Amino acid sequence: MTARHAVISGASIAGLSAAWWLRHTGWDVTVVERAPAFRDGGQNVDVRGVAREVLDRMGLVDAVRAVNTTETGTVLVDRDGRVTTELPSDGPDGATAELEVLRGDFARVVLDDLPDGVQFVYGETIQDVEDGAASVVPDRVTITTSAGRVLHADLLVIAEGVRSRTRDRVFTEDGDVDERDLGVTMVFGTIPRIPSDDDRWRWYTAVGGRQVHLRPDPYGTTRAILAHAGVDDLVGLDRAAMLAKLRDRYADAGWQTERVLDGFADSDDVYLDELTQIRMPRWQRGRVCVIGDAAWCVTPMGGGGASLALTSGYVLAASLQAVDRGDALTQADLDRAFVSFDEWLRPLVDQIQGIPKGIVHFAYPQTRLGLAARRVADRVLMSKLFAPVTAKLTRVADTDRPLPEVSVVRS
Ligand SMILES: Cc1cc2nc3c(=O)[nH]c(=O)nc-3n(C[C@H](O)[C@H](O)[C@H](O)COP(=O)(O)OP(=O)(O)OC[C@H]3O[C@@H](n4cnc5c(N)ncnc54)[C@H](O)[C@@H]3O)c2cc1C
Repeated sequence: MTARHAVISGASIAGLSAAWWLRHTGWDVTVVERAPAFRDGGQNVDVRGVAREVLDRMGLVDAVRAVNTTETGTVLVDRDGRVTTELPSDGPDGATAELEVLRGDFARVVLDDLPDGVQFVYGETIQDVEDGAASVVPDRVTITTSAGRVLHADLLVIAEGVRSRTRDRVFTEDGDVDERDLGVTMVFGTIPRIPSDDDRWRWYTAVGGRQVHLRPDPYGTTRAILAHAGVDDLVGLDRAAMLAKLRDRYADAGWQTERVLDGFADSDDVYLDELTQIRMPRWQRGRVCVIGDAAWCVTPMGGGGASLALTSGYVLAASLQAVDRGDALTQADLDRAFVSFDEWLRPLVDQIQGIPKGIVHFAYPQTRLGLAARRVADRVLMSKLFAPVTAKLTRVADTDRPLPEVSVVRS
């Protein structure tokens, strides 16, 4: 068989899943990562639906379970910390899923299990992509990195997350990338754990479109999020100015807000994100494709992003293997592979991205009346009568369709 070479940009869940599966199906793989070393850290994510089966096929369920966040359930609390509602977390896909893990720990489990021979280039980004007629080598995509490294590949896989620059460099036509701002800003950070922190995700909603989240991690610290809707004036501020604005915004919010703000002031991993959905009508152009959050960011409002990222690496390798006859991979072969990739994955993405309009207003009430209505709705939704409806809300990345088959040729 002619050797195939994939360059993958981004060493997180999607990129490493693609590296794992492509290497196991006979590809030479080079991973380019912007960060100077593998990026640990990150917030709580979970493995849901069909991603559990992908993880099982990788033999990594126990490894992920071993680094689980220790979270056992999810509760909504009031201003005094009293539990007002308990969200169902009894099945594999409850509000707290069976497999909860920090993003960095999840990616590291895959990294540590990569087969031999995956090459890593840290601290560089892709500066130039020459494909099709522009490529200096026929039937190859030519990639130049920020350090001037030139790579020739059969395929470039962009897995750079929601703010992907290489995606924006390659998919440049009108309508290629639709970025939808959901109007929610989240500020994340790790703060010291205190004795009253328990093993549940505690979720507090205050008027003014504000939320506070506290979740356990396996390192004896607590992961905190301050989230608000309606105002996006934090981007571009330096750390001190951002924290000062947050202090103003959350001044009268109540519950443990002061503690979180104090914790953020001393934390070295505070970062913010404005929730943005990415919608792309096609995920391939020539010998370049885009997967994971870079292709279809569903945001934490939709859920299931980590599951889709993991699954996409598997489906990519399966789709490519199905068209592979052993000779050089032609553009027509790749086009057929991407039809299958798209057909298999897009329904899962659409299902999550189709979150109802108005969900932000419901989740982030501005007024006392809105908050009271939200509490009533929470109780109704958690009642036995509505249990089947509620269960569907957290059942994402799920399908009755079987995964396409992959045969591992290199273990
Ligand atoms: C607070 C929070 C909670 C979440 N909760 C959940 C959840 O409960 N369940 C769930 O499934 N998902 C959740 N998610 C989403 C999940 O984290 C993402 O969907 C998932 O990490 C996407 O993986 P990815 O590999 O596509 O991208 P990312 O994890 O964003 O990784 C992108 C990688 O590319 C690198 N990179 C970026 N630009 C470049 C470049 N130009 N060149 C080279 N490398 C580059 C980055 O350094 C990074 O390593 C949550 C996210 C957040 C923020």
